[in-house]
Amino acid sequence: MTLPDLRMRVEARGAVQGIGLRPFVHRLATQMGLPGWVQNSAAGVEIEVEGPRERLDAFLARLRTEKPPVAVYHGMEHAFLEPLGLRGFEIRASSAAGARRAGVLPDIAACPECLREVSDPADRRFRYPFANCTHCGPRYSILESLPYDRPNTSMRGFAMCDACRAEYENPRDRRFHAQAIACPACGPQLELWDPTGNALARGDAALRAAAAEVRAGRILAMKGLGGFLLLCDARDAGAVARLRARKHREEKPFALMAATLEAAKALAEATAAEEALLVSPEAPIVLLRSRGAVCAGVAPGSPLIGVMLPTTPLHHLLAQEIGFAVVATSGNLSDEPICTDEREALERLSGIADAFLAHDRPIARPVDDSVARIIAGRATLLRRARGYAPMPIVLGTPLRPVMAAGAHLKNTVALAVAGGVVVSQHIGDLDTAGARAAMERTARSLEALYEFQPEAVACDLHPDYASTVYAQSRGVPVVRVQHHFAHVLSCMAENEVAEPALGIAWDGTGWGPDGTVWGGEFLLVRDNSWQRVAHLRTFPLPGGEAAVREPRRAALGLAYEIFGEALPPEVTCHFRPEETRVLLGMLRAGVSAPRTSSAGRLFDAVAAVAGLRARCSYEGQAAMQLEFATDDEFTAEAYPFPMNGSLLDWEPLLRVLLDDLRGAVPISRVSAKFHNALAAGMVAVARHVGVERVVLSGGCFQNRVLAERAIEALEAAGFAVFRHLRVPPNDGGIALGQAVAAGR
Ligand code: ZN
Ligand code: ZN
Ligand code: FE
Repeated sequence: MTLPDLRMRVEARGAVQGIGLRPFVHRLATQMGLPGWVQNSAAGVEIEVEGPRERLDAFLARLRTEKPPVAVYHGMEHAFLEPLGLRGFEIRASSAAGARRAGVLPDIAACPECLREVSDPADRRFRYPFANCTHCGPRYSILESLPYDRPNTSMRGFAMCDACRAEYENPRDRRFHAQAIACPACGPQLELWDPTGNALARGDAALRAAAAEVRAGRILAMKGLGGFLLLCDARDAGAVARLRARKHREEKPFALMAATLEAAKALAEATAAEEALLVSPEAPIVLLRSRGAVCAGVAPGSPLIGVMLPTTPLHHLLAQEIGFAVVATSGNLSDEPICTDEREALERLSGIADAFLAHDRPIARPVDDSVARIIAGRATLLRRARGYAPMPIVLGTPLRPVMAAGAHLKNTVALAVAGGVVVSQHIGDLDTAGARAAMERTARSLEALYEFQPEAVACDLHPDYASTVYAQSRGVPVVRVQHHFAHVLSCMAENEVAEPALGIAWDGTGWGPDGTVWGGEFLLVRDNSWQRVAHLRTFPLPGGEAAVREPRRAALGLAYEIFGEALPPEVTCHFRPEETRVLLGMLRAGVSAPRTSSAGRLFDAVAAVAGLRARCSYEGQAAMQLEFATDDEFTAEAYPFPMNGSLLDWEPLLRVLLDDLRGAVPISRVSAKFHNALAAGMVAVARHVGVERVVLSGGCFQNRVLAERAIEALEAAGFAVFRHLRVPPNDGGIALGQAVAAGR
């Protein structure tokens, strides 16, 4: 006896729109002889199919296992309903209201099929820089409003030719409903401009001429996927120095673009995990160990270089045509947001670029390249933008609608929308008016995209952050969230960690409610609240903010705390005598010398005492040099770093460290013993607190050595350790934690 047919309703949530899921469902249902329909919905994609129960079960299983690789289900629910006698299978038009909150997809690197077509002289897209399909191509960067349909993207102005329309309408074609579909006959075109905006060449000739500019040692501004990039020959010390001078970027490393994985591996060593990250659909910049094949100016003083592979056919064609590794850095002046519009680029990049490779597809949203690094075997994002944003962080418990304004450095904003939190792409440090305007635009445009009206706005406790000022200007209730609590909550949220948990939040600077600068914090999170259960012993920072750029000041404050005015020569050597006198005066009077428990400043102090770095030209530089100096194999010994009440006391650590330096112990070992001590200190506190779940957050955990030793030591001591994988451990993750704190 056969059972009667049933109607099955499936709701797939997550990143399921605009990546060919509806055509896939159409093909699958048709092939299995199941009538019904599919449409984009509020949560993602809705499907109804009708047929015998066992075939419906098989359909559900294949829906999970055979989906397009870039589709990510955050959840899938199904229910069996009364059959309606459906006939045929249709892809229903999206309802504008319904599709609002669906997972908007990030931009995805060019797929192998598209690249094959672009390199096939017989294909109609041969050497076409804007080829894409349902498996790849621009999404978020061209999206103006939801649902993700062509009229709502910056492809709106390009009328499809007959050949493209035929592909677009053919359910068996890879470009079925590919909203950004384009070809040389109907799609965007390249132009090469001189710095005054005169067109020098068009189409493929523009691409070849642009490559020739780079080969001749000049600096090219190229309109990429989410903004302009600046390119130059990475082997040419003169070109790299010119780019640094014109961009006002002294030493902060530049990223590289290599044409192929083989070319990338010629530049740097890459483990299997690093290779997989390089060739992933997200295609971030990956930090790798340099082989020294490019000039030193690319990443001064660093054994690591950031390498990415081309992300679009345009990047691929240009990289091939150039034929060697290029510096590929954001098109901006230091600390300003990335340029997206060609007229704006001509103005803002006029003193930097010698030529402009532009095109006529508008960029709807600025999206920088993402940066990632493998830590303890898994990808850790240091900058989350192209390829990742705005994928939601899905949460088990719903939040009320709040907007989070983020921190000050590496700012992102976030929205608590149904089912999770959407964290914006990296915006940048809010030091310039341009960056502050970009933050406001990003917040407003995300709110418009999700038709979102916040009930409250979350921000940091720091009164002077531009993000705090902005939050207070919004005219809705403001929820102030302590910086390190936000760090810990963000890591708990992305790992769905239940309370109680011990949060270890170590970073450079965060506003402490007790009038000191926090940054070496142990927070016990339970009952929706937190308690500071331990922290690093505090020390004064002569000159306050200036100490961020001058690790020698952190060293002076730390040493003063132990030795008073009898400062050790490892500290005084970094100052002229009158400078020391002035700073000692500040310390004695307790003026302009805020006290801090910052782990970042402890790193700075040790880096300065060890003679590695007295001044920084970018955030975290001294701590990075200490990390790079470490003998990674040496785990046998650690400096003493005892718990003293609720304080981790660095005094014994510093005393023995100075003895080692005077005893000519090599810096690689000194640094290893320092990192080992920090990990042991974390274990001591975790044992003292005695909760099983330990959460690691804050910028210090971008340090691979620190993160790996902490994870290893804590796990060996029996703790369940959680760390950031989808949002950065640095302040780029703060908005997520703020949204969770204010939204629940
Ligand atoms: Zn493709
Ligand atoms: Zn066409
Ligand atoms: Fe922080």
